[in-house]
This record gives sequence, C-alpha cells and structure tokens, in this order.
Amino acid sequence: VPGAAARDTEVFELIAQEQGRQRVGLELIASENFTSAAVREAQGSVLTNKYAEGYPGKRWYGGCEVVDRVETLAIERVKQLFGAAWANVQPHSGSSANLAVYNALIEPGDVVLGMDLSHGGHLTHGNPVNFSGLRYHIVGYKVNPETERIDMEEVRRLAHEHHPKMIIAGASAYSRTIDFAAFREVADEVGAILFADIAHIAGLVAAGLHPNPLPHAHVVASTTHKTLRGPRGGIILSNDPELGAKIDRAVFPGYQGGPLEHVIAAKAVAFGEALRPEFREYSAQVIKNAQALAQAFQDRGYRVVSGGTDNHLLVLDLRPQGLNGTKATRRLDANHITISKSTLPYDTEKILHGGGIRLGTPAVTTRGMVEADMDTIAGLVDRALKGEDVKAEVHAFAGGFGLP
Ligand code: PLP
Repeated sequence: VPGAAARDTEVFELIAQEQGRQRVGLELIASENFTSAAVREAQGSVLTNKYAEGYPGKRWYGGCEVVDRVETLAIERVKQLFGAAWANVQPHSGSSANLAVYNALIEPGDVVLGMDLSHGGHLTHGNPVNFSGLRYHIVGYKVNPETERIDMEEVRRLAHEHHPKMIIAGASAYSRTIDFAAFREVADEVGAILFADIAHIAGLVAAGLHPNPLPHAHVVASTTHKTLRGPRGGIILSNDPELGAKIDRAVFPGYQGGPLEHVIAAKAVAFGEALRPEFREYSAQVIKNAQALAQAFQDRGYRVVSGGTDNHLLVLDLRPQGLNGTKATRRLDANHITISKSTLPYDTEKILHGGGIRLGTPAVTTRGMVEADMDTIAGLVDRALKGEDVKAEVHAFAGGFGLP
C-alpha cells in the first residue's frame, strides 16, 4: 500500500506480517480461503464512505444511485448463482444472517431442532451462551453412533416428539452430504420451517457439487467467505418473496443500520467469479483434495470421522494418538500449519479441548495444490503431531505455491 505505509507504519507493518504468514504457512482451516485481488480491491474501495440505510430504491440517505446499482448487481448475481427468487446481501456475517432468520420467522421460547454442536452444528444453532441458546428452546439431533452420519429417522423421531417451529439443516464440522429433501419431508410432517445454513458448503452448492437446498428449504443463509471465496459476510436466500420481505425487515431496520456497500460490492465480484466455469473446476478440486487428504491420513493410521468426506472438510479423531484438539493445535501452530480443534460425535474429551481436529482444503486448493500435494501435507501434519519440527519444510513447500 504505497503511501499508506508511511502514514501508519504500525498497522501496515502488521498487515505485511500477516501476508507473510499466509504465504509461508499451510492453511487448513476449513472455513478459510484466499480471496481474489478483485474481491479485495472492491472491499477496499471508496464505497466504504457511503451510508445507505434501506434497500435499493428505498434509502434513507441521498446519493445512493451508484450503491443501489452495486447492491442490485449483488442480489441478481446471487439469485442466479443459487437459483433463488429472493435474496438479501446485507448481513455483516453468517451469525447476523442467522439472527435475522430467527428474528423474522420465530418467537423467543419457540422450539428449534438443530444439529447438536458437538456433532458438527454451529454456535448459532443453539450454544447455551449464544443468542440462539439463550432465546430459544433448542433440541439437538446427533449423528448415528456407528456411521457418524445424520440419521434422518432420529431427526424425524425428535421432530415428532418436540414439535419444533424451525428445523436447521447445516453444520460447521460435518463431512457428508446433507439431504435437504429428506429434511423438508420431516419439516412438513410437523409443520416446521426448514432453515438451511449452508455457510460451509455454499461454494460447492453454487458449483453444483452438493445438492442445492433451495428447492426444499423455506429459507437459506450462508457466509460468503468460506468455500464461496468472497469477502467476510452473510447472505439470506429464499424462493418465497413473502418470507423474504419479513427477513428484509428483520435485517433493516430490525437489527442493522447502514449496510457495508464496499463488502456488498466485493460479494458481487465473488458471485461473478463463482458463476464462471473455472469456479466449478476449482470446487471439484476442493472435494478431490479433501478425499485425497482423508485417504492420506487413513494410510498413516488415523481415524477419519465417518470414514471419509463428501465435501471440503474432514475431522480426525486424535484420541488414539493420545492427543486432543488443543494439544494438536499447539503442535501444528508451532509448525505454521493452521487447523481448528474440533469436538467429535460422542466425544470423551472435555468440550474445551475436543478429541480431534477439523481440516479443510478450500484455501490450499486456491493456491493450486492437487491430490499428490495432499499426501505431502498429511506427512507434514503427521510428523508435526508426533512432535517433529517441520517448520522449514512447511515454509519451503507452501512458499512454492502462489497466492491470489
Ligand atoms: N453458520 C455456520 C454453519 C458456520 O460454520 C458459521 C461460521 O463458522 C456461521 C454460520 C457464522 O459465520 P460468521 O463467523 O461469519 O458469523
């Protein structure tokens, strides 16, 4: 950033350090990715100067003629990408998108059936200290203890027992295909709203490589910064414009003021990128890499939860290695391999530590890595977990790949 560095060396020196960290490290956090220069340029643009409370054509501020076009472009592109009739691109994050969905569609105290957090669900699906757990009566469904996959008969049993107002299909640490049609069947049986949270798999859905929830779910929310490879933010989609109007009101004036039009511009750029054929190729490689990585760990004697993966992530059970999520994170961090610790289905470790780790391939795939590289990565992770110092090898290996 020429000039800017001279004005604020403290901040820009840190940004340069972070850039260096991203270049030489191995980024295996399943929810992270590397955005294109165009996405970052849009986000760093003068659009950050503009107030635009309201929606295109219905603003509380003057001078919105350009940002109206930016936001409309983002809406039209995301509708095309997912085949949705309605979209809101204003939520500042995935959590705030989810907050809008809850606020718009159900009342405090209502029963919500979501995936149990320790089995892969997200904080906003009912953590007791999150708004979701504080405000709603959350019932969690667990995966089948043998297959470690979602058991639709168990979901059905719980739905009939608890009569939820809303059922959530979606997860943060689940490596298998989610059957949205089956969820809708259960939702219809008990008169519940089906809410699909596709934050993790959005890019795969956009690429046509995971079933699209839109024909089935009443409402769909997502982040834009994971497999979708856009700026940090949220979106909400639906095929029901009446539900959409309620959600629009829940976002603004419900709990947000001015939208982040610079981020919305960056979302529009990312949606444009995701509409191109190259994005399908990229997403297909993300899945191939995750499957190769799972296999490479199994070849080294590790237990992969559910025996493998259908998407961009995998969860390793590290208890047989005498490790837990916290210890493993420490060893890998010391070698500049970044992952996130994870609880396991029916975990025997304390929740704070978790019995394993979650790894994902969206970021390394953006850097151009392919299946053979996954074997190298598994080897480095394996040795680092055993206490070896592999930092120099990590730097040499990762540094050999480009960054957008
Ligand atoms: N929903 C799911 C399934 C997620 O995995 C996440 C993020 O990890 C979110 C929502 C929340 O997104 P954010 O971190 O942008 O609030």
